[in-house]
Amino acid sequence: MLPLEQAIEQMLSQLETINRTEILPLQQAVARICAEDIISPINVPAFDNSAMDGYAVRLADLQHSTTLAVCGKSFAGNPFKEEWKEKSVIRIMTGAMLPEGADAVVMQENVTVNEDSTVTINEIPKLNQNIRRLGENIKVGDVALKMGSKLTALSLPLLASLGVAQVKVYQKLKVALLSTGDELVSVGQPLAQGQIYDSNRFTVQLMLERLPCEVLDFGILPDDEKIFEQTFLKAQEQADLVITSGGVSVGEADFTKAVLEKCGKINFWKIAMKPGKPFAFGKLNHAWFCGLPGNPVSALVTFYQLVQPAIAKLSGYSQWQAPQQLKAIAAKNLKKSAGRLDFQRGFYQVNAQGQIEVSPVGQQGSHLFGAFISSNCFIRLEQERGNVNIGDIVTIEPFGDILN
Ligand code: AMP
Ligand code: MG
Repeated sequence: MLPLEQAIEQMLSQLETINRTEILPLQQAVARICAEDIISPINVPAFDNSAMDGYAVRLADLQHSTTLAVCGKSFAGNPFKEEWKEKSVIRIMTGAMLPEGADAVVMQENVTVNEDSTVTINEIPKLNQNIRRLGENIKVGDVALKMGSKLTALSLPLLASLGVAQVKVYQKLKVALLSTGDELVSVGQPLAQGQIYDSNRFTVQLMLERLPCEVLDFGILPDDEKIFEQTFLKAQEQADLVITSGGVSVGEADFTKAVLEKCGKINFWKIAMKPGKPFAFGKLNHAWFCGLPGNPVSALVTFYQLVQPAIAKLSGYSQWQAPQQLKAIAAKNLKKSAGRLDFQRGFYQVNAQGQIEVSPVGQQGSHLFGAFISSNCFIRLEQERGNVNIGDIVTIEPFGDILN
């Protein structure tokens, strides 16, 4: 059995980003992956300006007297343009352009306005106080956003603030999706005896929709070698990646292996993880291939742990980060036998002492999907680890974006 980390490493070493790009206006680029470094065309701020409502001063003027005339006003969008008389101050608003020669802004709370329209500065400011200097945040030519970043509600407004109106992104990855099994019925159809609903295609589709992917739905395949072959061939012509579920173990109706060995270069891995032992990865003529196990929990966990990084690589999402791992205290005993990396479903919360505590949720069998809805993390129990006792420290992975 192959350790999970090795499987991921082997996969990523084979995969390359599919370099098909397009240029989109910012409004259409959300959740897409940036295909170029975004170089700032302007300085931010673009001019020296005030961080406060108050008075712009020249510190030298304050050496003689702290009561000074008000020479003029500078508003945001309406700068002071006249000559700045000696020994005077300029009334200035937040974001307004700093008059030339000013070396500090005194906030209005520290100023007394006198009846003769002079002001008294009650607290001498430090040099540069309350001034935002040109280029202080970003300079012309700086990389404002790295290639391979996801465009989000945080990063897109940054580009807008730089006046960048359109952005080169990777085209969506085309992912063909299909389920295999004579027992499967699409949601919405009646069930005959011995049949079950196809939940995997739905699970995977929902996760794919949170990634920069376009889903090509190839439905359910009956356990028929000929149909597998025809459909796999068709799918790989249209897609960058084909994802199947079911039929990857060694049962009599598990044809995936036979068909793929004929049409491509596929590895069948027994991964030392639970749930999710059987997993196929490789290449057909025109597309990559990931074969998930049929068990719904295994399908979800293998997609999350293995296919997600593969998609990140293919879609150019180089700034993608593997699921975050935290340390938590086991609030209950956990059953675990040594030999496989175990992803148990758990619920974590911060206890009264401010520590993270985690409990397993429901039954942990790979066919039992229900526990997911009341869990918020995986409890990641290392391969060689045995049972966990209350109070032991374990690693958890809070569910990432694609599961929420
Ligand atoms: P298989 O890997 O094809 O042997 O399937 C393993 C188990 O997962 C069997 O109990 C299947 O009925 C079940 N299964 C396979 N595919 C799906 C699916 N798309 N949705 C729900 N359960 C499935
Ligand atoms: Mg099957």
